[in-house]
Amino acid sequence: MKVAKFGGSSVANATQIRKVGEIIKSDSDRKFIVVSAPGKRYKDDTKITDLLINLEKDFRTNNQYENILNTIMSRFDEIIQELQISPTILDGIQEDFLSILNQQPFNSDALKSIGEDSSAKIVSSYLNSIGIKAHYINPKTAGILVSDEPGNAQILPESFNQIYKLREIDGVLVIPGFFGYTVDGKLVTFSRGGSDITGSIIAAGIQATLYENFTDVDSVYSVNPNIVKNPKEIKTLTYKEMRELSYAGFSVFHDEALIPAFKRGIPVTIKNTNNPHLPGTSVVATKEEKNKCVVGIASDTGFSTLYVSKYLMNRELGFGRKLFEILEDENISFEHAPSGIDDLSVIIRERQFTSDNEKKVIERINYELHPDTVSIKHGLALIMIVGEGMMNTIGIAQKATNALTSVNVNIKMINQGSSDVSMMFGIEASDLETAIQSLYKAFFED
Ligand code: ASP
Repeated sequence: MKVAKFGGSSVANATQIRKVGEIIKSDSDRKFIVVSAPGKRYKDDTKITDLLINLEKDFRTNNQYENILNTIMSRFDEIIQELQISPTILDGIQEDFLSILNQQPFNSDALKSIGEDSSAKIVSSYLNSIGIKAHYINPKTAGILVSDEPGNAQILPESFNQIYKLREIDGVLVIPGFFGYTVDGKLVTFSRGGSDITGSIIAAGIQATLYENFTDVDSVYSVNPNIVKNPKEIKTLTYKEMRELSYAGFSVFHDEALIPAFKRGIPVTIKNTNNPHLPGTSVVATKEEKNKCVVGIASDTGFSTLYVSKYLMNRELGFGRKLFEILEDENISFEHAPSGIDDLSVIIRERQFTSDNEKKVIERINYELHPDTVSIKHGLALIMIVGEGMMNTIGIAQKATNALTSVNVNIKMINQGSSDVSMMFGIEASDLETAIQSLYKAFFED
């Protein structure tokens, strides 16, 4: 039994949903289907989930949300009409909106979930209309129990036994991605892009033979195709490599989606709904081809560095703990923390800072830790070179630094410390494209 998850672009309109129908029809093992909300139909289009988030803002600020609601409803209407399925689904979506908007207390995650929920009802009805016996299954019925962390839920371990029971239900099961329920029955969503997580949870729960993740690219590429034209495709990569690459900027697969499948050893394939005959990219536990040690180069902008230096920091017991406690008090999480004898740099996502909390962090560090220097600098980009076997290969760091030097890019930070599959470079965000192009050339072309 396979789990097939279809992302936003695969269910963006009726044409795409018909392709989904063909894919399901062509393999009777595809019994568990997880869907996203309709995504972008063209480059400047807006995803349904983004429209729902905008609707919430309008609803909260002035209670005027009719315009956005009409836009959302007409998108669903168009899909339903073009697929020639029952118009009662549209009435149901309208009713869901009214009940969620009138619910006290208002649950914004429930509003966000309408995209996925409606998408699953539409796909299920369409499958029946083309002769595939299918049922819509709500995540509560499926047994997806999550923590009460709105917009950032985590799966509870007791879910998996419950999910296993879905195997007994006859026909194809269509499950909306992106959300689950707390033990008290409250709807909570995963973080953005979280339908990948649902797919992985279902695959782990039903002990699938394969988790197929259908998206709109032929494979995972070794580098961002917006920076390097026609980069090399990655045929196979390990869970560890995929997680590092996703976390560091590859947007094709959610970085939290691998763990459930990985823990139960379920292979994952990333495929294109528009070219389903192509093999795509496989994510596996171990790969034989060890000699190609660097598989991908990920990058992302929007980081800040909190730099603290103090002579004899290495001897001061509790210095690090106190520093991280200050960040914790301000609700700031960190990404990396490379350190020296007398210095510590903490890399933080820029969006976590406001002028208020930034000032407060600096003041508290000065007052409580008496450093020689403390500063926060913005505009940092991180590059992650990823590959298993990299740490046993001589010359990787030299190759990378040569590539950066050759295009005059100043390296602000290097971290190879803790992970055995990645090496990180911090550079000025304005240098990013040049740096990536040069690194790509060094590792994949020369
Ligand atoms: N629709 C949600 C989002 O846009 C979840 C997903 O598509 O995976 O974040």
